[in-house]
Amino acid sequence: MSVGEDRYWSETARRLVPYVPGEQPKIERLVKLNTNENPYPPSPLVIEALRGQIVDDLRLYPDPEAEQLKKAISEYFDIPSGSVFVGNGSDEVLAHTFCGLLKQDLPLLFPDVTYSFYPVYCGLYGIDYRTVPLSEDYRIRVEDYGLPNGGIIFPNPNAPTGCLLPLDDIVRLTEKNRDSVVVIDEAYIDFGGESAIPLTGRYPNLLVVQTLSKSRSLAGLRVGFAVGFPGLIEALERVKNSFNSYPLDRLAIAGGVAAFSDRDYFDKIRRKIILSRESLKKALEELGFQVLTSAANFLFVRPPVRSAKDLAGRLRKRGIVVRHFEKPRIEEFLRITIGTEKECQTLIEALEEER
Ligand code: PMP
Repeated sequence: MSVGEDRYWSETARRLVPYVPGEQPKIERLVKLNTNENPYPPSPLVIEALRGQIVDDLRLYPDPEAEQLKKAISEYFDIPSGSVFVGNGSDEVLAHTFCGLLKQDLPLLFPDVTYSFYPVYCGLYGIDYRTVPLSEDYRIRVEDYGLPNGGIIFPNPNAPTGCLLPLDDIVRLTEKNRDSVVVIDEAYIDFGGESAIPLTGRYPNLLVVQTLSKSRSLAGLRVGFAVGFPGLIEALERVKNSFNSYPLDRLAIAGGVAAFSDRDYFDKIRRKIILSRESLKKALEELGFQVLTSAANFLFVRPPVRSAKDLAGRLRKRGIVVRHFEKPRIEEFLRITIGTEKECQTLIEALEEER
């Protein structure tokens, strides 16, 4: 940017430190293991539903309430209809959560190693926060969240570590923090964890956020949702209706509904990814990598010889993209998304040659 270009900026724009998403390379035939997308296509029912939407009706606005999608989600999880909020990807749902529920007088708490969008939303909305260090073995310990707080948020399984917190711990945390909202970001829960959604009917201070981007292969459609007590959902609706009346377009609503109608396909591909994860973990360990136990569709690994950054660069030259974070505590790690079996094999062969 040349000097003076920012002179028209607001103070808000000046203060922002935006999130930087993983690279979406323009080169074809890359083995893309850097943004935790699903390597398999969406359900054929989704494709059919999307085709059905490419008609005249596109001239009309979509349903601002996305009622059909909320209904599909509430039926799928067997929860009351007023307990679902939907948004343009779970990032948008999270943004509204930060604005509508987590901006409080007391600081928000989240782990020191976690989804790096959280501090960005805090910057955007002026939310005071404290980070709580993970244990030596990169785990969230509920007993560390005893500080007076205006809310708690973390992904379960955590990102980028992949470590899962058992449901019992979430119950303990929620019960201990009755005066603030506990938000569980379950972007990766379908790859090996148990969802806290059934608990939301019991705790008025628990909000669970999920996405269709990962386990349902719809990162490109942008559909996320939150489940919680109607009081919490109402706060999110108020923010949404002060920002964008139509965050979900007609395609997103129809595709989302279809995705929830195909349980068999969903189960088939997530099982496949879990199996690939476990065999990739074993192969990496045989090559001397430290591999954290993951309940997600990625592995967090420490290379045995080279620095993580150097190895990421070498893999990139071979057409394999993985994610490296230049951040304290984790700069020696790489996050590797689980690809198809063939992609995992290509990765292992490249790593054998880079030894
Ligand atoms: N939460 C976590 C922990 C994530 O890793 C991601 C993906 N970057 C998201 C939320 C957002 O996903 P989406 O906006 O595609 O639903």
